Amino acid sequence: MNEREKLLKNWENLKLQIKNENDNISELAFNTWLKPLKIGNVENDTIFILIPPELAGDDGTGTAIIKKNYSSKLKIALSEYLNKIYNVEFAEEDSSYNYDFNLSNEKLSSLQRSNINPRYTFGNFVVGPNNELAVSAAKAVVEKPGFAFNPLFIYGGPGLGKTHLMHAIGYSIIKNDPSKIVRYVTSEQFTNEVVDSILNQSTQKMRNIYRSVDVLLLDDVQFIIGKEQTQNELFNSFNELYGQNKAIVLSSDKPPKDMKTLDERMQSRFEMGLTADITPPDYETRMAILRQYANTKDFEVNDEVIQYIASNISSNIRELEGALNKVYARKNFINEEITVSVAEEAIRDIIKESEPRKITPDLIISEVAKYYETSKESITSKKRTKEIVIPRQVSMYLCRELTDTPFAEIGKAMGGKDHTTVMHGHKEISNELSTNAALREDIDNIKKKIIPNQ
Ligand code: ADP
Ligand code: MG
Repeated sequence: MNEREKLLKNWENLKLQIKNENDNISELAFNTWLKPLKIGNVENDTIFILIPPELAGDDGTGTAIIKKNYSSKLKIALSEYLNKIYNVEFAEEDSSYNYDFNLSNEKLSSLQRSNINPRYTFGNFVVGPNNELAVSAAKAVVEKPGFAFNPLFIYGGPGLGKTHLMHAIGYSIIKNDPSKIVRYVTSEQFTNEVVDSILNQSTQKMRNIYRSVDVLLLDDVQFIIGKEQTQNELFNSFNELYGQNKAIVLSSDKPPKDMKTLDERMQSRFEMGLTADITPPDYETRMAILRQYANTKDFEVNDEVIQYIASNISSNIRELEGALNKVYARKNFINEEITVSVAEEAIRDIIKESEPRKITPDLIISEVAKYYETSKESITSKKRTKEIVIPRQVSMYLCRELTDTPFAEIGKAMGGKDHTTVMHGHKEISNELSTNAALREDIDNIKKKIIPNQ
């Protein structure tokens, strides 16, 4: 029997023992905080205790309470029981993922080093016409890392499974051969690492790390566009790895040829292997994804409800899953059978949001007003106070930049202003932008509100 099995066998008793040895743990506290805890992995000197998500709380308050009150008590009791000093760590239990406790220690530590999330596997990735090519290419990379389709470049819109596939590749490669050094990294992390290494004068160290991997999985590579130093580091690591037949998998929201300001050298390298796109799933694939999701979460929902969700949300799988979660939360809340009309009500907002928003001067003025904490009425009024001039000119500027509305029309939407006033406002902001970083940031933030998915 290994340590974990020993703990599992006596877990309920061990918790009771902690309660009995501590007068200050009331029956209520015991039932609330201690009883629901589960034993997770045991790795070297650390025992992982799993906290159910509803207990951990959205903001982690529950986890904090448990850590503060029970971590040393658990440490003492469990170490005594196993006759060896262990550390106790807490992790949130993920009900949708069956932890694979049969992985050997070697595989586990290889997984940990790689940043791979073992919850994303090929097994729970639904294959449809929209992602077939990407999936078979991904599986080929698993079979012959570095030799099949190198690099593999996966692209597609948000929430379509790019990240899931990259983790699945890494996970399978480690399962096949735990001695393989796999590294999953988002482009944001990669950029931060480059910046940090420059600050700490440790660029060589970072290069060594990246150049010694067998498999590099770089997610959302569109974010390195325009970041010169990061691009350079990536370029060099890429060449090194490619030259040694190490596997490289990249993802992006668009194909290399559309990555406008990407270094040409980089672009042609991205295209050397295979580029595979993932498109939004068709109705049948959406149904299959929802059914599978309901299954793993143990949601009881009838087919009609699943059909309703699948017909109304089509462009993003994250939203599809979010909708089902929302419907199910509703069921727990009102404790009644979910009918299509309950589902309709629960996901009304999501459906509204997933329709592409038409960008109009009206929408722009509202968002600008919200951002500057003023009102649409003030922006379109004739007031000339200093506080209102900036939001007004920013509105004029954004109307011109984000829509093809003529100046005269923008003037009308701005409460009947002359087209020369709008032109003037637009010019003022354009000029100011070249020197004023704070304004640039404000405008970027407002743009993100107006076009949320960019
Ligand atoms: P992306 O990286 O393309 O934005 P993700 O890989 O993060 O998208 O996918 C978003 C969510 O949808 C994840 O929870 C993922 O598991 C799920 N998902 C995406 N595609 C599929 C699929 N074909 N089958 C099952 N789940 C999927
Ligand atoms: Mg992603």
